[in-house]
Parts: sequence; structure tokens; C-alpha cells
Amino acid sequence: MDLRLRQLSKHYPGVAALDDIDLEIASGELVALLGPSGSGKTTLLRVIAGLLHPDAGQVFFGEVDATRLSLRERNVGFVFQHYALFRHMRVAENIAFGLRSRPRRTRPDKATIARRVNELLGLIQLPEYGDRYPEQLSGGQKQRVALARALAIDPSVLLLDEPFGALDAKVRVELRRWLRELHEQTGQTTLFVTHDQEEALELADRVVVMREGRIEQVGTPDAIYRQPASAFVFEFIGRANCLEGEVRAGRFHVDGSPLALSAEDVKEGRARMFVRPHDLVLADDDGALAARVLAVHRRADRITVELAAERQERVLELDLPASPDTVPPAPGRTVGVQALRHRLYPA
Ligand code: ADP
Ligand code: MG
Repeated sequence: MDLRLRQLSKHYPGVAALDDIDLEIASGELVALLGPSGSGKTTLLRVIAGLLHPDAGQVFFGEVDATRLSLRERNVGFVFQHYALFRHMRVAENIAFGLRSRPRRTRPDKATIARRVNELLGLIQLPEYGDRYPEQLSGGQKQRVALARALAIDPSVLLLDEPFGALDAKVRVELRRWLRELHEQTGQTTLFVTHDQEEALELADRVVVMREGRIEQVGTPDAIYRQPASAFVFEFIGRANCLEGEVRAGRFHVDGSPLALSAEDVKEGRARMFVRPHDLVLADDDGALAARVLAVHRRADRITVELAAERQERVLELDLPASPDTVPPAPGRTVGVQALRHRLYPA
């Protein structure tokens, strides 16, 4: 089912949790809501679910204005960060819960429910686990059961609020791949909240970046990564270097350096240039940025050189390949630096 949000606002004393949110989600899409803590992600999910009433605006499920409908009438599936499984119920009973608690008129018969539960146990790859209790499962297994429970009612939309947030990093990566595959099988319209940019970029068809109750940018993972609409998005989406400078006559001039880069379609005046560590390279030419090596950090997948440049407040990071042949410059040396790719934002 497609989903349309129109001018949604929700205020709490002293804070706009949602500030004029407009968003459309197509049927079958997997969309990630990405933003720092407090940016309004959970509030937006709760408004869509019908757990919270907005101060203004509307929520449409397909052509139906659902703004006044209850959670149950909207028939949404919801998964929370902290496993909300019923501890005294077996896995199969947990999954069946939404169907069993329907009014008699719309409740499937016992055999149908049992079939559906078995199907879902297969889908979450826990076919033998129906008789277990939640405490007999790992964290990742519990979240898969929570997902099966949400899917059991054949929800109009699936809403996931940081579902893997409490799990360790390795399990999180496995589950995010699994969720992507599951989504390809079910084609369920899904809205997925995360504060982890890697999770959002890897998993989603589209990413919605939120900041202080507003949408900062909506786009494909590729567009968000390559064309961040603001300095905020650039910095939030990955490691970032920032250089202060000025745009004059179509060029960005880095303060305290001969380094000048193209600045087409950017207005004249003070600006900030952002560049990823892997887009900075060592270069000897006259036009390079001179920077002093502060430290060198070896990691499994890269060598990171920390640099300080004249008149630049922020330390720069430049990545070199982690191959055994790489000889990083020694701390204390001054090196030249060029940028392969950059983005400019008004200061
Ligand atoms: P996120 O999920 O992105 O971390 P939330 O949607 O939980 O953010 O919160 C957005 C903002 O609204 C925060 O500033 C939060 O403190 C505030 N907020 C959320 N719920 C309430 C509430 N029930 N009462 C007061 N303030 C709230
Ligand atoms: Mg939240």
C-alpha cells in the first residue's frame, strides 16, 4: 500500500518533534528514516502507526485518509528496538497473537492460523523454534520472531524502529542483509528507522534524512552519498573533511593555501568545502594544500593520515590503501594534498 504524509507537525513544550513533514512512499518500497537521536524519527513512525496524533497534517494509506483511524484500523505491523515479545508465550503463540486477537468475524480458523505461523517460521528461518519461549532465543532470533509477528496480520505497512539497535555489530550486519532479502520476497511497504548511516545506505531503496523534526534530504542511497544536499547530510553520511575558504570568480580558494577548485553554480563569498578522506590524495604540485602530518593510524582496511593545514581549524584525514607496499608519510613532515572530488556549501 502506498503512503502519503501531508504537512505533519507535532510539537512538545519547547520542541518541534515534527515540523511540516511531506513524504510519499510507493507501494513495495523499503525506505530508511535516518537521523541523529532526537530528530523525530520515532515520533514520525508513531504518527504513521496511529499511536500518536499529530497537531496538524494528514496521513493517507492509499486513497484513504487514515489520520483519525486507530492502530488496529490501519492494520500496521510494528517492530520496536527492544524485543516486545510476550515472555509467557511460545514463539508460535507470539506470531499468532495478532490473528488470534481479531474479532471473531475476521479471525481465521485455527488450522489457517497454524499454517500461517508455520509459513512465517520458515520465512524467518526458524522452522523448528515454534515451541520455544523468548528467553530461549538469541537477540537476533527474537527480532526475527518480532518481525514474523508483525507480518502475520498481512500489514498495510511495516514500521521498524531501530529493530537491530540493541544487537552487536556482526549480528546487525547479518540481519540487515536478511531483511533486504526478506523484503524482496514479501514486497511489503516498509519504513525502517535507524541512526546508522551504513545500515540505511545498504538496505534502503530510498533514504530520508531527518534533522530537528524536518526532512533534510530524500533520495536514493547513491544520491544521498554522492550529492548530499547540505553540510549536515555530508557529515552525517560518512567520514568528512571540512576546509574553510571563499568563492571568487567561479573558484573556491582554500584559506591559507594556493589550493583552488571549481565552484560552478556556487554563489560568491565565504563557503566550506567538504571532501571524503578517500578523495584526498598526496600531491607535490604547486597548487596543492600544504599540511603537516600529525599522526598515522593503521587499520585493517586502510591507513589514515591525520593532517593539519595552515589557517584551518579542523584536522584533516587522508586515507591510503592498506596494502603492504604503502609507505605513509612520517609524522612531522609537511606534504602536499589535492582533492579528487569535493562539495561546496555556503558558510
Ligand atoms: P528520535 O526517534 O529521532 O530519536 P523522537 O521522535 O523520539 O526522536 O523525539 C523527537 C523530539 O521530540 C526529541 O526532542 C524528544 O525529546 C521530543 N519528544 C518525543 N516524545 C516526547 C514526549 N512524549 N514528550 C516530550 N517531548 C518528546
Ligand atoms: Mg527513536
